[in-house]
Amino acid sequence: MKAVVYPEPNKFEIRDVPVPEPRPEEVLIKVRATTICATDMKIFTGKFPGTRFPHIPGHEWGGDVVAVGKGVDGVKVGDRVGVEVHVGCGKCQPCINGMYNICENYGDIASGHQHIGFTVPGGLAEYCAVSIKAVHRLPPGLDYDEAAFTDNIGVALHAVERTGLRPGENIAVIGPGAFGQLAVQIARSMAAGKIAIVGTRAERLQMGLKLGADEAVNVSEVGDPVAAVKKCFDGKGPDVVVEFAGTESAAHLALSCARRGGRVTLAGATGPGRNLNIDLSVIVRGHLDVFGSVANPRWVSARGLRMIERGVVDVKPLITHHMSLAEFPTAWQMTHQREDGAIRVMLDP
Ligand SMILES: [Zn+2]
Ligand SMILES: [Zn+2]
Repeated sequence: MKAVVYPEPNKFEIRDVPVPEPRPEEVLIKVRATTICATDMKIFTGKFPGTRFPHIPGHEWGGDVVAVGKGVDGVKVGDRVGVEVHVGCGKCQPCINGMYNICENYGDIASGHQHIGFTVPGGLAEYCAVSIKAVHRLPPGLDYDEAAFTDNIGVALHAVERTGLRPGENIAVIGPGAFGQLAVQIARSMAAGKIAIVGTRAERLQMGLKLGADEAVNVSEVGDPVAAVKKCFDGKGPDVVVEFAGTESAAHLALSCARRGGRVTLAGATGPGRNLNIDLSVIVRGHLDVFGSVANPRWVSARGLRMIERGVVDVKPLITHHMSLAEFPTAWQMTHQREDGAIRVMLDP
């Protein structure tokens, strides 16, 4: 089968490799839609702990079950599925609580842990074998492109839920990329009050307005971003902030713009090396609840897929291009250079 392979850091090629065999409690999936994001760049450059080279990436994808290993029930050949990428060991305390995203045996494949596309082969290939713990049967109305958002919708939903958003509460979403656009729609569907989308790219902010935000703040066009966000909420700031931009300045803004007594989830900077230099009184005297959020616990994605099925979350505007797997080099370039408005370039293996 054809697969994208990183033979070593900072190098990729499209190679013929053997089709994997599903082991016990695994299924073999014919990948039908698969895409890339900024995290793939971290894996590519060798900055992701736990990735061993050569590596087949791909963590945003879906397809058809074409074979099942021993002990598989609940999923059968012919099922259309999406994949969530954290498979916990199932034995450590976080995993027993369903928190696969913070498994204590991260990267230890012998323990049963898999991070699909990170520590084990992923879906930038014609076929991929994964644990049944990762597999969601698609609701009938969903297509493969939507299936490729199985993990992303779980990540966005978990981050919003970390804040405990209640109906009628005001929210600012910082970072208008794929996750921010999903978070806006999730907040809208949860009957948020006013929603502001905050970022630096005018076309992405416009998309946020179309997808449910009431106001947009372009940080690169205002002198004082904190004041500009607060101004959207009677000068007091939002009840809730969700940050998906992944920069120090975005995290700083998230904490600084929340109203006193507000709740802030920082979900963007999931890699090491970003430091926050902030006056502690912002948090202490601001009386803030601050949450970190990485990835998604087990089965949050199932609820996210139902939200897509119900039409309250539309992922289609985030799919800006379609290509074949052979066009991966172009997709890579467009995604990372953000050419031609690219958010997700969907590949069809
Ligand atoms: Zn991703
Ligand atoms: Zn575990």
